[in-house]
Amino acid sequence: MRDIPIRDLRAAAHPSPAHPGARGAAEPVRGRLDRAVSDAGGLERLPGRLVRREGQPPGADPAVTEAWEGLGYTHSLFWNMFERDSIDDQGLTLEATVHYGRNYDNAFWDGERMVFGDGDGQVFNRFTSSLTVIGHELTHGVTQFTANLAYEGQSGAINESLSDVFGSLVEQHSRGQSAAEAGWLIGEGLFTDQVQGVALRSLKAPGTAYNDDVLGKDPQPAHLSGYIETEDDNGGVHLNSGIPNRAFYLVATALGGNAWDTAGRIWFDTLTSGTLPRTVDFAGFARATSRAAVTRYGAGSREHDAVIAGWSAVGLGGGLGAGSVARSGIPPVRPSVSGRAVVDPGSHPE
Ligand SMILES: [Zn+2]
Repeated sequence: MRDIPIRDLRAAAHPSPAHPGARGAAEPVRGRLDRAVSDAGGLERLPGRLVRREGQPPGADPAVTEAWEGLGYTHSLFWNMFERDSIDDQGLTLEATVHYGRNYDNAFWDGERMVFGDGDGQVFNRFTSSLTVIGHELTHGVTQFTANLAYEGQSGAINESLSDVFGSLVEQHSRGQSAAEAGWLIGEGLFTDQVQGVALRSLKAPGTAYNDDVLGKDPQPAHLSGYIETEDDNGGVHLNSGIPNRAFYLVATALGGNAWDTAGRIWFDTLTSGTLPRTVDFAGFARATSRAAVTRYGAGSREHDAVIAGWSAVGLGGGLGAGSVARSGIPPVRPSVSGRAVVDPGSHPE
């Protein structure tokens, strides 16, 4: 009901315009994957040398292949599950640059492309090795083209959380994992074996992804009561994202099945509704997901109840309606105790 018919309707309602002067050329086809991967060769210059375009065979460089496949899996989630044609919904070519800088410990979306460092080999492996990180960065592009949430404070933490949510969904979708089967980790495998930790972040249990002599402990709060007030990290955008991350995890696992089908759909509807303020706070975002659930599934539906219960469990149920937590079966979480975090922004994917 939600997938094929909508796509067909759209195709019928918006036929691709003909290209004047391009007689015989194929018209653009909605949903067509178009990728380009470049190699910065260890310099901090973009875009670098173009090394693979759509239609070309794979080469020998695993970083290029991983970036290539990650772009494809991300495109597949957004197109096949949400009918979104690339990050701008207009078939934008997905571009990435690998081997950025020397021992560069990060990956980021620069507004036009994804950029991957190779890691320093001491703490981090190469950043292309994590599909969730690729999905995370490209989702920043989707957010930029839709709600364009301000990257500061609570709206910035929601921006970060949306990238974690859809980054995790890209991986789950590529593996055919249900919400119950998924690991709900961001950046699993990025740490070298010298680090005590499994990933950069956990949506399931924020604050538990690593606990290391050098890096310290994963500082993410899992409940509003642990909210970190800081001027670092754009007001803690990579820290407080743990709160909405856990809300999504709770909604998805309460609903069961594939997380992209229902919980992911509600979050995607919220992101693309066109009504989300750029500086929306946690409470406003929670209300917006509740409205999106009502619009798609109805007030008092199982999906609506799960959204209310998920937010209630992280301390953000106020104003969403009462009495649903008991029905959903989601137990309240114990607030995590989280000290003031010190974060090196350079060591976390932005
Ligand atoms: Zn990010």
